[in-house]
Amino acid sequence: MSKVSLDSPYMDLDLAHGVEAVVVPDQWAAAGSTIYVEGSGIKVRDSNGKEYLDASSCGLCSVVGYGNREVADAAWEQMMKLNNSRSFGGAANIPKIKLASKLAQVTPGLQRFIFENSGSDAVESTFKIARFYWRQKGLDKYKIIHRDRSYHGSTLATMSACNPGLDNSDFAPFAPGFVSIPTPYCYRCPLDKSYPGCGIACAQALEQAIETEGADTVAAFIGEGVVGSEGFIPPPPEYWPKVRAICTKHNVLMIMDEVITGFGKTGKFWAYQHWNVIPDLMTSSKGISSGYVPMSAVGITEGVYKGMTEKNKPFPHLHTFTGHPVACAVSLKVIEIMERENLVERAATLGAYVGDRLLALKDKSPYVGDVRVLGLMQGIELVADKGSKKRFDPEKRVGIQVSRLAREKGVLYGSVGDDIMLLCPTPTTTMDEMDQILDVVEWSIMQIDRI
Ligand code: PLP
Repeated sequence: MSKVSLDSPYMDLDLAHGVEAVVVPDQWAAAGSTIYVEGSGIKVRDSNGKEYLDASSCGLCSVVGYGNREVADAAWEQMMKLNNSRSFGGAANIPKIKLASKLAQVTPGLQRFIFENSGSDAVESTFKIARFYWRQKGLDKYKIIHRDRSYHGSTLATMSACNPGLDNSDFAPFAPGFVSIPTPYCYRCPLDKSYPGCGIACAQALEQAIETEGADTVAAFIGEGVVGSEGFIPPPPEYWPKVRAICTKHNVLMIMDEVITGFGKTGKFWAYQHWNVIPDLMTSSKGISSGYVPMSAVGITEGVYKGMTEKNKPFPHLHTFTGHPVACAVSLKVIEIMERENLVERAATLGAYVGDRLLALKDKSPYVGDVRVLGLMQGIELVADKGSKKRFDPEKRVGIQVSRLAREKGVLYGSVGDDIMLLCPTPTTTMDEMDQILDVVEWSIMQIDRI
């Protein structure tokens, strides 16, 4: 990256014309946003010339790093060849066809793919597909069961399947037909049980909910393979196989939301491959284009597709940019690079290295209560007291302060709530960069006494 620092006029323009989400308006008016201007590899630079090692994969999207020439060239070539085409109602384009076939090769059990624009679109489509599927079978199964500690998007229907504790109440009323059950979260079990003696009661809660609601009304269950933005929480190993069996027993479709976890983030191409289960429907976004263009996909089993089409009725669902040829060309290139550079395996080995260092930090710091590791998704839960798992005073906003300190030292990693740090480096991170990141992560957490 060049060393030229921009003396930025953009802050004032942004404050005058932007609408910044998820920030306290007063604080934004006083401080503005960090304006990013350039990226290369895992480094990104802001408009003041400050450079960061991005250990958050740019919002959990990046798989091949910033500024990848091959990906940019693929987009350019496709733009010059065919920049847009309709991809529904009997029209298709070649990158879309190639991408669906490629995904079918790397996605065990799922053969068909619809392409969308964002994670929320993809999740919402799975709800529509599930309802449509059952209605083609003459069944009025429409309810969606979800988990209470989850994030599935920002449209009204996807918010209806999110953690009810999120600050969404000003958007109410939400969509009807959504039912919440407890999330597998062994460190703070919502059912007050301990693994493994619990018998995976959180999975049993699904069966209870199906029976209470009536299996003849329940269309689908949705969950993230690993809880993502709500804390990087992998489930106990028995959880998904049990959920799969319960869904099959009660004729409920199982939707796996892989918006964060897909494209190698957990050390397998898809998170569900850790548990030898096959979802009926699956979402993907973020890594699908490595963040180069907005894009998402829904994967569908052949069985569900047969059910959707058995009455020969058109599936009335489209977006203008469904199967956009440039987005599909980008995604094909990302997968090609992942395969050539063994990035899924790299995520597993790099993740194991990071995990070991974080576990050592857990022994060293009185404030690291839990370290959760699956591939490159690494959650660090901070506590005021390890023995009692007492949380920090929320007023101290410890997580935000820790990430601010790391940021000042040039490392980007985020926090959720007041106390969970989320680390998710890109698999292209070199060992040297990884050590620099981990040194700063460790340093930032060791400063907690001074916050
Ligand atoms: N599903 C999961 C698991 C997510 O983490 C997100 C976003 O972070 C979404 C869906 C929604 O994706 P988007 O923000 O692209 O609409």
